[in-house]
Amino acid sequence: MKDIGLHKEVTVGRYLNPFAGFEEKELVIEERYDETTGVASRILPYRVRPAHKPDPAPYLEKSPPSICPFCPELFDRLTPKFTPDILTAGKFRHGDAWLFPNAFPYDAANTVATFSSCHFLGLDQLTADAMRDGFAVCRDYLYRIAELQKGYQYCSINWNYMPPSGGGLIHPHLQTLVSRHPTSFVRRLLSSARNYAEASGGGHLWRNLLLLEQEAKERFIAATGVISWLAAFSPKGMAGEVDFYFKEKTSFFDLTEANFAELLSGLARVFAHLYVNNFMSFNLSLYATMTPEKNFWVQGKIVPRFELNPLGTSDLNYFEKLHDEIICPVVPEQLCRELQAYFQV
Ligand SMILES: [Zn+2]
Repeated sequence: MKDIGLHKEVTVGRYLNPFAGFEEKELVIEERYDETTGVASRILPYRVRPAHKPDPAPYLEKSPPSICPFCPELFDRLTPKFTPDILTAGKFRHGDAWLFPNAFPYDAANTVATFSSCHFLGLDQLTADAMRDGFAVCRDYLYRIAELQKGYQYCSINWNYMPPSGGGLIHPHLQTLVSRHPTSFVRRLLSSARNYAEASGGGHLWRNLLLLEQEAKERFIAATGVISWLAAFSPKGMAGEVDFYFKEKTSFFDLTEANFAELLSGLARVFAHLYVNNFMSFNLSLYATMTPEKNFWVQGKIVPRFELNPLGTSDLNYFEKLHDEIICPVVPEQLCRELQAYFQV
């Protein structure tokens, strides 16, 4: 099997430690690089994690339901509607969820989906049931977009949950993107998969990655059915990264309702772990092609986000923004073991 390209190099630093009588202290830092994703990271041996459960009250005070465009009172007045060629009703509805155009879009076709009229849901309240209609309405929309045959090839479902992750509103909401061209990161994944297939005489990057990871038992969290859950070797976030892969699903439209139920039940487990570990925020993306692409499986990533107290210091710094490397004081293999416990119950 062709090598996947996960590189690791250890570098050792020393200093005289002021917290232990200035004794010499050795620090082992792992430099990691994943050829598939292009993500370079430094795995640090010391833990930096939020020590206390974050309090959402200050956010709720600044952004109460009375000024929320996604809460029932202002919803009809302040949320955009689709042009009639997309949907004559103006907005998609699925159970308690709504989907409508993003008023501040990142692309020509960028939508927002709310889960319900509930203004705030804590991480511990993000159950599969609570999320179901929100993801279902995204699915309804993407089916409609495919039906319109506008030539879109790529789609994603994305989530900035709470302000530390870039979420502009407390009210839980997803965003979908459809486009003719992949985003920069998806382009990287696609070209890695194609290059791998070419270099290995038809080998499948994701199939082989999952085989290797399952065998290695270091970062393979669980297989729940069609989905494999992994802690990323070289994470995209300071608190690590959880990946999910839909085996053999080569287009968004291969995903069944049961596959979504499986996804949401897995996500709820990951969110429970984040809640217990005092995180309050995350980014999530599910990446897919809209027509079958044999080298690419539908997949996604979750990156926990946080602020460091007492200053509310950002979890992004010059290393990530300007050097394209991620500082990660959470060891992926340890994150995997912790999450395994959540997938066993
Ligand atoms: Zn609201």
